[in-house]
Amino acid sequence: MMVPPIPKTKVCTKCGELKNISEFYTHPTGADGFTARCKECLRKKVAVYAKENPEKVRASVARSRNKNPEIYRAFRKKYEHNNPEKVAASKLRYRNRDSSKEEKKKCVARWRTKNRDHFNKLSSGYSKKIVESMPDHYIAMTLKIPVGCVTPDLLEMKRAQLKVTRSIRAKQHRGANS
Ligand SMILES: [Zn+2]
Repeated sequence: MMVPPIPKTKVCTKCGELKNISEFYTHPTGADGFTARCKECLRKKVAVYAKENPEKVRASVARSRNKNPEIYRAFRKKYEHNNPEKVAASKLRYRNRDSSKEEKKKCVARWRTKNRDHFNKLSSGYSKKIVESMPDHYIAMTLKIPVGCVTPDLLEMKRAQLKVTRSIRAKQHRGANS
């Protein structure tokens, strides 16, 4: 069987332009071993499809991700390494989404239910020193919010509030004893 020579140029069936063969993807079942449409036209086609079928594309991405988690993780890691600004910007966008705020609330609620017993044990097990010095993790515990989700402002406010309630309680205690 004769192997057909690799063509140098080809006319795209979509845009009709004569292009260099490097502008076409290789295709094992194509008559000449290349796709009928040029790379640019195929990229456009994929982009249009993705825009019109976001659910299908998302499902397909999720499927391949579940099939090859290691490959996906490696790919993701490489992307994050090569595009630190893009990754940071996308994380920021995600955090600022309204639905993300809702998600966060739900996440905190779930976390609270899951950790209720843990909290009770924690709050009764804190040493006097920790209760008095009020470190961040202690404040987060009194707020019943994961320490990573507490903003510095909230920490300060809660700390101030605790100081006030404690001094009131101390005064009441002294008043009751005198
Ligand atoms: Zn084309």
